[in-house]
Amino acid sequence: MEIKATKATVDALLKNKNLSDEELIALLKTDTLDEYLFACADKIRRLNYGNEVYIRGLIEISNYCKNNCYYCGIRAGNAKLSRYRLSKEDVLSCCREGYRLGFRTFVLQGGEDMFFTDDIVCDIVSSIKSEFPDCAVTLSLGEKSFESYVKYRNAGADRYLLRHETADNEHYGKLHPETMSLENRKECLFNLKKIGYQTGSGFMVGSPYQTYETLLEDLRFLQSLKPDMIGIGPYLTHQDTPFNKFENGSLALTLRLVAILRLMFPYALIPSTTALGTINPNGREMGLKAGANVVMPNLSPTSVRKLYSLYDHKICTGDEAAQCIVCLASRVESVGYRIVTDVGNVKK
Ligand code: SAH
Repeated sequence: MEIKATKATVDALLKNKNLSDEELIALLKTDTLDEYLFACADKIRRLNYGNEVYIRGLIEISNYCKNNCYYCGIRAGNAKLSRYRLSKEDVLSCCREGYRLGFRTFVLQGGEDMFFTDDIVCDIVSSIKSEFPDCAVTLSLGEKSFESYVKYRNAGADRYLLRHETADNEHYGKLHPETMSLENRKECLFNLKKIGYQTGSGFMVGSPYQTYETLLEDLRFLQSLKPDMIGIGPYLTHQDTPFNKFENGSLALTLRLVAILRLMFPYALIPSTTALGTINPNGREMGLKAGANVVMPNLSPTSVRKLYSLYDHKICTGDEAAQCIVCLASRVESVGYRIVTDVGNVKK
């Protein structure tokens, strides 16, 4: 007999009990408990982080990528996309603007662009750290060797974001070409932790071929990794990928997962992602109310924003950074939280 999720299931999570596989799947499938689930997640979030929302300035340094992930708009095989990469000076001027606006974390994200050798990455990281010693630098540049991760860390990088995308081997194979493996991605994540990065992982919700069972595996994998940061967002279709016939993921299921993650990982830094804001105009506000405590406004030069097209209709691609932060601050306040000027490390 299939078991049902009830308020008692949510209460058990709230008390930090480890739910059974059946209970977690039942909770994922239940849409009648959301209000209670979000309230409990918010309670835990306020206990650990009050009403503070941390901001991270996202700088999209390159849309060149050697990989061919079937879901991603900047995949190597997308010949329609015009490619760009930022110079060190470009990145530093984004940081200067960001610093003035109150950002104390800069996230350098990009495709796996071979132009960015370890020396170039390290030079950019150490230049940011020497000009802004009170800021954290987060990298999100994909899968690298243990040695490369060590070099970046020695150059001053504090954090690394690498979503595992799916923890199910078969599902991973349906989202990626054979040249990529879940095993390597997981190894990268454990290496990052070993090297001493604040490490972030995560996955898309509603990616093609995802099931409740693969989502359960995602939660179990995160329990074994114990990441400091967990980023999730709905899968969103990009017209120039092999997955262009698949539908977007679900807003409701993404929010439910944000809340479940908050309860399972009380201290985690959980962003209310751009993908959430893209699938629904109030998606980021809803994410905050479901337990998220981070937002990542775009600090990339306006001229390149549209080219970092992971998925269609990405929001905030036309605005100046200053406009973005004013808009976001009022959105955050409208749901009872406030943006703080803080490096925003994980509280443990
Ligand atoms: N090359 C880096 C950065 C990838 S882009 C890396 O490998 O980590 C950052 C994240 O965007 C990805 O990890 C993926 O989860 C998400 N993403 C990519 N395509 C997407 C899509 N079509 N819809 C929603 N999210 C997507």
